[in-house]
Amino acid sequence: MKNLYLIDSYLKEWTTKVESADGRFLTLRESAFYPAGGGQPCDKGVIACSGKAYRVSDVSKKNGIQLDEEGLHAGDSVQCALDWERRYMLMRMHTAAHILIAVMYRDGKVLVTGNQLDAEKSRIDFSLEEMDRQKIDECFGKANDIAKWNLPVTFAFMEREDAEKIPHLQKLAAGLPNIDELRILSIGEGSEMVDEQADGGTHVRSTAEIGEIKLLSVENKGRSNRRVYYKVE
Ligand SMILES: [Zn+2]
Repeated sequence: MKNLYLIDSYLKEWTTKVESADGRFLTLRESAFYPAGGGQPCDKGVIACSGKAYRVSDVSKKNGIQLDEEGLHAGDSVQCALDWERRYMLMRMHTAAHILIAVMYRDGKVLVTGNQLDAEKSRIDFSLEEMDRQKIDECFGKANDIAKWNLPVTFAFMEREDAEKIPHLQKLAAGLPNIDELRILSIGEGSEMVDEQADGGTHVRSTAEIGEIKLLSVENKGRSNRRVYYKVE
């Protein structure tokens, strides 16, 4: 299955053929359906064949695409469409998460312990000894400034060997699964580089598309973990 979302996150409709089918599970020759991973939930959408539409209920790297009912077979020509409204919201949320995490790390050396995106609200867990609401508010202010700068969000595929030669990507590559080619995502460029890391998720192409990043709430999760909820609008 060729993953089209890695090359073009704005592709919302495409035609292809069913590569393999097993009951309600199938793989496509080309797919823009994002499989759950890296804190981003899977895409939803529709696959149509001969006038009948099948709903995509789950997408995973392990099991492929799961439909709400069976009926498709290997070789079938299909028209696919993403639930674009939801996906676009997840793209804005994902790029916003990278900026928030970069600002928290740059200004407070605060590390992330987990994150989960969703279309309604997303959360990031930060390792913060003190519940410092003011610091979090300041970081949201800075993240919103960056979003307004209209910075380009770009990516490049890089051989693992080459990524390991670049000092700030070195450590990151070491912590990644053993794959030969990495997709390096950059927010900003040159002296305005905000974030650069290996990432397989879907992002907006300019930070201006994020809109306003709004802090919703902060919860204590253990002594040093702070769970921050946000949305974009
Ligand atoms: Zn990411």
